[in-house]
Amino acid sequence: MPEILVVGSVAFDSVETPFGKAEEVLGGSATYFSTSASFFTGVNLVAVVGEDFPDAHITSLSKKGINIGGLRKVPGKTFRWKGYYGYDLNQAHTLETHLNVFSSFNPEVPEEYKDVPFVFLANIDPELQMKVLEQVRKPRFVACDTMNFWIEGKPEALKELLKKVDLFVINEGEARELSGEASLVKAAKAILGYGPKTLIVKRGEYGALMFSGGSVFSSPAYPLEEVFDPTGAGDTFAGGLMGYLAATGELSEDNIRKAIIFGSVMASFNVEAFSLERLDTLTLPEIKSRYSEFKQLTHFEDI
Ligand code: AMP
Repeated sequence: MPEILVVGSVAFDSVETPFGKAEEVLGGSATYFSTSASFFTGVNLVAVVGEDFPDAHITSLSKKGINIGGLRKVPGKTFRWKGYYGYDLNQAHTLETHLNVFSSFNPEVPEEYKDVPFVFLANIDPELQMKVLEQVRKPRFVACDTMNFWIEGKPEALKELLKKVDLFVINEGEARELSGEASLVKAAKAILGYGPKTLIVKRGEYGALMFSGGSVFSSPAYPLEEVFDPTGAGDTFAGGLMGYLAATGELSEDNIRKAIIFGSVMASFNVEAFSLERLDTLTLPEIKSRYSEFKQLTHFEDI
């Protein structure tokens, strides 16, 4: 049985970076997440698209082994996001968000997905994330992501959700915004106080930090010479992380550390091209080889 259930956005993105422009390309938090996770394990997708969404995109998700039984096509337009990045590629600037078919979406988890052990609530309205979580029977591990749009728009619903998740993954600016703390250590303490057992703070080109109980783990980002488009890096990171955890089935801190490196490996590939172009050509040997490079990158001897 496929091991991960994900709900999140499936979108058309229009993105501008200092290096180029893409109009209405395939994007969305659930799209990036499921594509990344599909390198490690089976994925069940729950989302909605409009009538303008080409069947070819759906077929390509399915060809990756992603189970699309929970992907609804309904009258209306697909979710759209428009944004740009300046030379600080860690900071996405949203220009437009059109929820379209997501604004009236009532997610229904297909019966055969309800016993899936790993659940990822990718970035989307926290009320929808909660509706999905309520339909799953006894998940072993629940993780979620969000962004400033929802922190500002639906803070109460988000805090309710955080009471029910094992792992919360957000980026640095959002951790500060949600907690109201400038220091990341204080922000992490405050956010762990909302409920999650583990917090991972994504820091773009500076890597990721994990806070869990009393311990902290720091992972670098892969030192790429060129980053073309950071869109989807966070979701691709989460896909690698959850994919590895689900594939190995082990939730020790040591294994979560390895999963963070797999997440970082996947994100480092994704930013090399627009949309899902790089993930579409990626191979398992490339993933393994970059994992080894990460090990080398962070290795140092004891004193
Ligand atoms: P990230 O991994 O953080 O770069 O996420 C990028 C993806 O998030 C894009 O492909 C967008 O379609 C999607 N996105 C942007 N804004 C929202 C939103 N408010 N809700 C859900 N998904 C969004």
